[in-house]
Amino acid sequence: MKPLLSLQCKECDHEYPIEPRTVCDECFGPVEVIYDYGQLQDRFTRQLIESRPRNLWRYRELLPVDGEPRSGLQSGWTPLIPARRLAAELGVRELYLKDDSANYPTFSYKDRVVAVAVTKAIEFGFETVGCASTGNLAHSVAAHAAAAGLEAFVMVPHDLEEGKIVGTRVFGPRLVKIRGNYDDVNRLCAQIADKYPWALVNVNLRPFYTEGAKTHGFEIAEQLGWRLPRHTVVPVAGGTILPKIAKSYQELIRLGLVEDNKPVMHAAQAAGCNPIVKALEDEEDLFHPQKPKTVARSIAIGNPADGYYVMKAVRESGGWGASAEDAEILDAVGLLARTEGIFTEPAGGTTLAAAIKLIQSGRIPRDEPICVCITGNGLKTIEVMQETFTQAPVIEARIEAFTDLVESAREAQPARQPVTH
Ligand SMILES: *Cc1c(COP(=O)(O)O)cnc(C)c1O
Ligand SMILES: [Zn+2]
Repeated sequence: MKPLLSLQCKECDHEYPIEPRTVCDECFGPVEVIYDYGQLQDRFTRQLIESRPRNLWRYRELLPVDGEPRSGLQSGWTPLIPARRLAAELGVRELYLKDDSANYPTFSYKDRVVAVAVTKAIEFGFETVGCASTGNLAHSVAAHAAAAGLEAFVMVPHDLEEGKIVGTRVFGPRLVKIRGNYDDVNRLCAQIADKYPWALVNVNLRPFYTEGAKTHGFEIAEQLGWRLPRHTVVPVAGGTILPKIAKSYQELIRLGLVEDNKPVMHAAQAAGCNPIVKALEDEEDLFHPQKPKTVARSIAIGNPADGYYVMKAVRESGGWGASAEDAEILDAVGLLARTEGIFTEPAGGTTLAAAIKLIQSGRIPRDEPICVCITGNGLKTIEVMQETFTQAPVIEARIEAFTDLVESAREAQPARQPVTH
């Protein structure tokens, strides 16, 4: 019988057994996990999935592991929120937010990919895991490694925000700051993976790691009642999550778990780091790497490893891309917080700001169901929002002072009206 899983080159289709590997020996193309969908057809049903605990491992047949999950037993199954107030504000009919700012244990989409990579690292017998990171991956690898009792080496750009450094070091990894930007860190990590017997989750475990991102898409479909949104707006950094959400939708269609509504994928990037969106807008075959300069640090990757596959997934689905300036990103963070009570980091603001542009330009019709992927939590990057506020009022602890304040504020600004549905 054919094995359930194998690795296949995305370019020349050469197949490899399941092993730590990044590229194809024949053509240096990236390798991807493929499944024997025929064998899964009758085995992997809605009833089976629904009978399982509410975490990302409920989709384990479509994740590249052999045995029991070893990490992330509480990761995934984040809220899918019908965003009524925001939809009213944007003038669209049906808007959902897939909210990985609530992911466990480190509040970003990265807990999905790391849960799978760390499980795979343990299956392969590695005792040390590591990563090249713009911040959220560092948090996640450090936390999952701590919980699994593994050593961790985390490599980050030297000028990463202090909140992200502290939020990583608390888990006790070896954290190394590298002079240069993310692309320099990543290049070094490829050499480290060659030299040391470590599982660098986004380097030599990349084919397994990236599969974890599919669970974001599986959950959207299941939480919508086994239905796909017509439009999904996804942030792009290294280019993992967008093509993997597209793959998750196609797998569900193929296994007969959802109807094929021809789901459309749209890419979101910051204007200060938008190689993919620019290539889509200019209708070029290849993207040009950039030097990032944006507040959206966690998606500031100027030379995305899977950028080509992002463009392919967007184009094949009939989607488009949009990028947002820093001011628009921070405005969108505020809008999401004020309308839906969700505090996302600039990456989430970028995605919402891009979605707004795609709606305004007509690329996303106002009457079609839309899902915006919120991938990170704003409490990690409060300093970027700080400058958008004036001083909060300070008063004496007397009711008269409070009454004066409320009365003068009421004259200046009418109270917020609740939206009722
Ligand atoms: C890593 C990350 C992304 C997307 O990264 P990809 O490499 O494109 O998968 C998006 N948002 C946040 C907050 C991230 O940390
Ligand atoms: Zn190949």
